[in-house]
Amino acid sequence: MRAITLFLLALTLHAQDPGRGVNFYSYEKEKALGAQLAAEYRRGATVIDSPELLRRIDALGAALVPASSHFTYTFALVAADDTALHEPVALPGGYIFVPSALILAARDIDELAGMMAHAIAHVEARHGTKAATKGELANQAAVPLVFMGGWTGYAVRQNAALTVPLGRLQSVRAWELDADSLGARLMAAAGYAPARLADYIARTQPADADPPDARSPLPPRAARVSALRALPAPAAPPANPPSLAEMQDLARRVLPDAAKAPPRLAR
Ligand SMILES: [Zn+2]
Repeated sequence: MRAITLFLLALTLHAQDPGRGVNFYSYEKEKALGAQLAAEYRRGATVIDSPELLRRIDALGAALVPASSHFTYTFALVAADDTALHEPVALPGGYIFVPSALILAARDIDELAGMMAHAIAHVEARHGTKAATKGELANQAAVPLVFMGGWTGYAVRQNAALTVPLGRLQSVRAWELDADSLGARLMAAAGYAPARLADYIARTQPADADPPDARSPLPPRAARVSALRALPAPAAPPANPPSLAEMQDLARRVLPDAAKAPPRLAR
């Protein structure tokens, strides 16, 4: 009886879900898990307290979150993270940690908006709790590792063994493409050009290995870039976008010296 109840619950959740895949987590449980993971992540990260900069990050993020979202987003700025791509760390329930390296490496506000939209898309599609539901992760603490924001970099820094079995990396890569596609829709709805997310990825993701690396958590760069470039441009420009130049000035003012150096890009 319990199994049937769970199954029906899973079907119901599936039907309401913006992304694909079964998820046993209720929204409330997901938010509680995210809060716990965010507290853990903060303990290991250098969170930068700059109200002026955070106000701009909040404004950019709020413009990208869909009106239908079940989550309340909390954005934070963390000191340079030199992982390739500088993808924000996105935790279940809406906790987004934006690395300073992303702000410094972006060439215009659309590129920054693109990587933030990609992170928001991971949250909206509930990739973290779907992975937990499918038993793809060895333990709950590994949930944030599925997010590339330095998925590999984070694992290396924490000296963690890779917790996603090789065979499951295929779905991790599929989620990256999902997050690109949903993120691009969020960008366009807010007036930002999806093609600029393609530009950022083309510039910062390491070149594709030949043959493709089965251990990579990332889909091939060429596939990501061509999918994004095929998407239509937004109908109208963004309303009151924050100034990237101002954000970069503010970031340089508040960052520790080590994080002010030009960020390391693709190797
Ligand atoms: Zn991602």
